[in-house]
Amino acid sequence: MLLRNLPILSLTLLLMHCNNHPDTSAHSHDRPINDMNNEIKHHKYYSRTDTSKVTIPDSVWATLLSDDLYAVAREAATERAFTGKYWDYEGNGTYYCAACGNALFRSESKFASGCGWPSFFESIRPAAVVYKADNSYNMIRTEVLCGRCDAHLGHIFDDGPPPTGKRFCMNSISLEFEPLP
Ligand SMILES: [Zn+2]
Repeated sequence: MLLRNLPILSLTLLLMHCNNHPDTSAHSHDRPINDMNNEIKHHKYYSRTDTSKVTIPDSVWATLLSDDLYAVAREAATERAFTGKYWDYEGNGTYYCAACGNALFRSESKFASGCGWPSFFESIRPAAVVYKADNSYNMIRTEVLCGRCDAHLGHIFDDGPPPTGKRFCMNSISLEFEPLP
């Protein structure tokens, strides 16, 4: 599975820098991450109320997640810009981790970044996410992981709007939106 996803990683990472000129057509030989095929399973580790850590091996995650969500959540793949279901979504509600159900973002913190990925200026609570230095591909970036299950969600940048100035640049496939009742 790792080898199969390497081309996706190298090509799509270039697009995460919000250059507003993504060329998705040039990468047609990639296997695209397709979150329309992302059937979220509410497996036994999935919970929207239990915030205790989920630490299970990737071999188990592979049985719980769709192939595309596994590639992003456990192997840090990146979906192509403008292909996910939430990049320009404007519904009112809460975004949960698609892997474990942990609450991550409120729609009030979502903003139109123009990058092609759903972007937020803050997480729903500080511990909802954790951060990790990512120096892959000769870039110095900060990776954002789910605070409960360590799923890769995306990266955070310093070019976001007030009040935080942060841009949580997330993969749509890593998120599950629940509208307000
Ligand atoms: Zn999670």
